[in-house]
Amino acid sequence: MWIFLGAPGSGKGTQAQQLVRDGFGVQLSTGDLLRVAISDGTELGLKAKGFMDQGQLVPDDLVIGLIKDKIKHLGSNKNVLFDGFPRTLDQAKALDKLLEEMSSPLKKVIYLKVESSELISRLSGRRTCPGCGAAFHVENIPPRQEGLCDHCGKSLVHRKDDMPEAIGARLKTYEDQTVPLINYYEGRGLLGELAAVGNPSEIYEGIKKEMAL
Ligand code: AMP
Repeated sequence: MWIFLGAPGSGKGTQAQQLVRDGFGVQLSTGDLLRVAISDGTELGLKAKGFMDQGQLVPDDLVIGLIKDKIKHLGSNKNVLFDGFPRTLDQAKALDKLLEEMSSPLKKVIYLKVESSELISRLSGRRTCPGCGAAFHVENIPPRQEGLCDHCGKSLVHRKDDMPEAIGARLKTYEDQTVPLINYYEGRGLLGELAAVGNPSEIYEGIKKEMAL
């Protein structure tokens, strides 16, 4: 069990997806799961949409319920990469309890550190695949064919919460509610910190080293 911790745009999802493509474990991204719930029109999706569009966090009880539900279906796989969860101290404590019940301890929390000016440029240029969740960037990581996902061919979208109006709110939410988790895990000797800037494949190698893969 691993956690990928970092601000929106720090590359958590991209790096976790690469690990999955390379055969290492499964990714549990609460952001992706919530977007699926919205596009399926479920009750959870209806409740979550307003918060997400405005760059706010979806209430803890909904997100914790979602994780509990998904984790049950993973069977005995202990190589779960939590991406975008936990994002609050209450979520972190709920996850501790859940992992204890499952006898699946956390191996490490990979903290991807990026300056906020860089995050703003990454988020505003990000284009996402609604099919497989892959992320591209109009300048830094353009898809091979403009507007189409390299992996599944679907049309890329500019997420509403990657629009300039929502980015500031998301970064503030991160500072206020998620940054305290850095100390929480550091105090338990579980934090592995990486400067997640520069060449993505070098960052990937750094992550694998932190994970001792
Ligand atoms: P992400 O794709 O991880 O950037 O998540 C997109 C949005 O989904 C966030 O801005 C939140 O509104 C919501 N979200 C994702 N994960 C969580 C979480 N662990 N707790 C609360 N809200 C979340």
